[in-house]
Amino acid sequence: MGSFHPESPARLAAINDHLIAQGLDHYLSHYEAPLATFEQLLRVHSAAHLERLKRNSPELGIYHLDPDTAMNPHTWRAALRSAGAGVMAVDLVMAREVANAFCAIRPPGHHAEREHAMGFCFFNNVAVAAAHALKAHGLARVAIIDFDVHHGNGTEDCFANNEQILMISLFQHPFYPYSGTDNPAPNMLNVPLPGGTDSEAFRQTVTELWLPRLRQFKPEMILISAGFDAHYEDDLGGMKLFESDYAWVTGQLKLVADESAHGRIVSMLEGGYVLSALARSVTAHIKELAGI
Ligand SMILES: [Zn+2]
Repeated sequence: MGSFHPESPARLAAINDHLIAQGLDHYLSHYEAPLATFEQLLRVHSAAHLERLKRNSPELGIYHLDPDTAMNPHTWRAALRSAGAGVMAVDLVMAREVANAFCAIRPPGHHAEREHAMGFCFFNNVAVAAAHALKAHGLARVAIIDFDVHHGNGTEDCFANNEQILMISLFQHPFYPYSGTDNPAPNMLNVPLPGGTDSEAFRQTVTELWLPRLRQFKPEMILISAGFDAHYEDDLGGMKLFESDYAWVTGQLKLVADESAHGRIVSMLEGGYVLSALARSVTAHIKELAGI
């Protein structure tokens, strides 16, 4: 998106480097994400949205869709691949080829609405993955958990009032994108939290609000919009979580997945912009997912 933009390629390099440095790399199976197809994207986006993005994809330089969100000549394919990762991960998990999956992807997705790219997001990766689980694999109930510091307005826009989806989130409020609190649909559990929210308040929210609702829903698959920008060191957000909190919540979600979803979890990277904190948090998350 241009130099100095926080959503940079260095994010994935930092994650990969830390996985290697921690000796985890050898324990994981790596897959190359395919491009998502139009059929897969059209389950959650309009044809007009896809056409608009394709048309605005520049041959040279950078095209700004809004002040935060820009396309370069590679963005279109990167966004297709980012969405394709979730589709592939759902297929792998459903085929029991892997127990669960983490998609190290960018651009992120949870701000992308049915009709709009925004907030560094073009296609709603987690929504495309959820729709694939419902339509291609015939699942009846999919839960989407979003612990990014920002509200996943795009995911809410794609699935409000869809009873096959339960979206559970917490986010800093008031904060970008200033949504999620105004009369959410019945299949949304949005928990706005003030800036400065710490580990204790986070864990209390998960234990008292998230987990009972999740268990009541009995998801057949859990998808995670895994943003790590609520980390204490991340200055894009104002919350105070640590990598141990990400490991803890991952463990809690694994327990629920084991109860009703045959352990099926697909986690997809969203935010997280301070490289060291991002790399440590993702590693803690993956370690817990992999059970090592
Ligand atoms: Zn975020």
